Amino acid sequence: MTSKIFQEPNYNHIHIPGSIQPHGVLIALSLSLSILQVSENVEEYLNVKPENLLNQPLSTLLGAEYIQALQDLLTSTSQTPTSFNFLKVILNTANGEKYFDATIHKSESTIILELEPTFTKTEMSFLNFRSLIGDAVSQIQQTSKLSDFLNLVVSKLRNLTQFERVMTYKFDESGAGSVVAEAKHQELISYLGLHYPESDIPETARRLYKRCSLRYIPNLNAQQSNLIPRDNPHTSQPLDLSNAILRSIDNCCIEYHQNMGVSALFVIPLIYDQKLWGLITCHNSNPKYLTSEVRTACAFLGQIVSLELGNKIVTEEFDYKNKLKLLQSQFIATISSADNFIDALIHPQLRLLDVVSANGCAVCFDDEITLIGATPSLEEVQKLIEWCQNTIDEDLFSTDSLPKIYPDAEAFKDFASGLLVLRISRIRRYYILWFRPEVIQTVNWAGAPNALYEFTADGSLKLSPRKSFEVWKGIVRLTSLPWMQCELDSAIDLRNAMVGIVLNKTDELAKINLELQRSNQELDSFAYVASHDLKEPLRGIHNYSNILIEDYAHLFDAEGLDYLNTLVTLTQRMDTLIDVLLRLSQLGQAELRKQFIDLNDLLNNIIEMFRASRTKDNFEIRILQHLPVIECDPILINELFTNLISNAFKYNEQPHKWVEIGYLEGQIHKNDTLSPVFYVRDNGIGIQPHHQEIIFRLFKRLHPREKYGGGTGAGLAIAKKIVQRHGGKIWVESTYGHGSTFLFIL
Ligand code: ADP
Repeated sequence: MTSKIFQEPNYNHIHIPGSIQPHGVLIALSLSLSILQVSENVEEYLNVKPENLLNQPLSTLLGAEYIQALQDLLTSTSQTPTSFNFLKVILNTANGEKYFDATIHKSESTIILELEPTFTKTEMSFLNFRSLIGDAVSQIQQTSKLSDFLNLVVSKLRNLTQFERVMTYKFDESGAGSVVAEAKHQELISYLGLHYPESDIPETARRLYKRCSLRYIPNLNAQQSNLIPRDNPHTSQPLDLSNAILRSIDNCCIEYHQNMGVSALFVIPLIYDQKLWGLITCHNSNPKYLTSEVRTACAFLGQIVSLELGNKIVTEEFDYKNKLKLLQSQFIATISSADNFIDALIHPQLRLLDVVSANGCAVCFDDEITLIGATPSLEEVQKLIEWCQNTIDEDLFSTDSLPKIYPDAEAFKDFASGLLVLRISRIRRYYILWFRPEVIQTVNWAGAPNALYEFTADGSLKLSPRKSFEVWKGIVRLTSLPWMQCELDSAIDLRNAMVGIVLNKTDELAKINLELQRSNQELDSFAYVASHDLKEPLRGIHNYSNILIEDYAHLFDAEGLDYLNTLVTLTQRMDTLIDVLLRLSQLGQAELRKQFIDLNDLLNNIIEMFRASRTKDNFEIRILQHLPVIECDPILINELFTNLISNAFKYNEQPHKWVEIGYLEGQIHKNDTLSPVFYVRDNGIGIQPHHQEIIFRLFKRLHPREKYGGGTGAGLAIAKKIVQRHGGKIWVESTYGHGSTFLFIL
């Protein structure tokens, strides 16, 4: 057996089959109305042998009034025969009077007359027509949703034609299609949602559908009737039957439908925007003949549907855009008023998917990645974001076939064959990624899909449903549903809004900062002026109290003198407090005098000073490592260390008190610099967790005034201010009863 090479059938000839369907006769005429070709079944219908008609004038068959009427039809209607230009013709044959529906059109320089037998001899009345259409038109116009509209149309057409299955089939950009509406006999399996490859209704067939208003094949299995002679004697070419109602069907189409168990086929093309948008297809398992009246009604409905379709599509698009816009504005309203912007972005999760109709989403703010819906794994998303960072330059990027540009995506095609990337910041790693799965995952492939072709053992062409599916799968593999322009717009709107919100927030923060700075400065200068001015009268009170004690003591009894002494102590205390205030306000106002300081030298001086003042105490100050040189205001840093070290000894009840000073390397600080963390550790009394923050507040002491050598409660507040002036922070870690460690970064 010789091996056959698979070859696609030649669809270029389907308009010149050289034969017609046998439920009517075809007569090809010259422009002078002489008969050039006839279908071989003329004898069956007209009782004349073909050879008796060829080269004869049309008047051999038809009376002058019909010839005139047909000529009028030819000039008054479009060149495409439609179901609206049937003409009733009565012929007297050897078997008596016969009625026909006649149509006529021109194909190049040939006139084609088609006659179909009918039972009625009169034209359809308006009332008949009205009863056929019923209230279908008004109901169709009342539906608002495209899907409701298409469902209503198929059910009306099923009522009208009584076919077992009527469905609407919609083409996509590539010519492949899917069933979007269906009305069927309850026992049939549903084809709704099924997808069909482009090869099922190839380009040539689609072109022919676009040109006609109906395609009517009442019996797919009927023996076709050949034209005699096969070629047009004038042109020696096969007759172009593109517009012939009776044009026969190509074998592939027959087998294709036989495979589906279909014997009768009736198709109404749907045109939108001058393109073939889809087809209304009627199937019947047995041959089914429709009267010209029903066909006329169907063609009329088809035209109404085509007209209305445009409205519905535009409305549907408009509604979808509006839905996105509404969602968008609600979304933006909540995220702009929320305290936690990111939280508002990802809750509720569905909303973030709906703004672009995605199945999954990843929100990335620096290293924080939140996954929503159906997404690749976190690790895969992290890698993908890295790829986006290195590859994508635009703020908005979309693809419906990610694996083709990012091969690793093949592993997660079920989640992300389609990708929409929104970059929110060019400086930070802020991204939103939306995902759509491979289209095959979303397609309902129940039931046997359709057909492609293969050679059988005997060499004949045979349909192969499985192969067809494979071909189609090859086309849509690794591809998601495309992102629509309005969805991309929605993403961009979201980005603009988010950038706006972030900018507003930054603006607000800047304003608050400025106000804070100003009020801090005002407070500092107020504290300075107030404390400075308070000192003067205080000194007066102090001095006069002393004069009273020294010079007028004899005028007071013991109790009175006691009061006077308390007054002096209080003025001294108040003086100390005012000094603290003055110091703090100075710290807030004065310029830092920064220089590079070797901390070893600075601390040696402090230690010397401590040794000199505490000769009797049993204490130890240890520095276990060489300290760095840092840029700081040495007077302030001296004050800081002095405060901390003196507290370390002060709040210590151990017989052997020690303080350890050192630093830890490598704390990431603002501007991404590494700052050392200095510490002052002691073996003192420790601080309870709930006190560890408040001890830094001004005048906050944890003990009675005189305990632990007294104090104003200002030392740590001053320490904090010094650290803050250096742009750093200070905190304490402590286990109560086991010592404390004060840590700070400058
Ligand atoms: P003062 O020492 O004048 O009371 P500070 O501001 O220096 O004021 O300290 C505030 C409080 O913090 C102190 O009263 C003390 O209770 C606690 N404190 C400070 N340093 C230490 C330390 N090293 N160990 C235990 N407690 C401390």
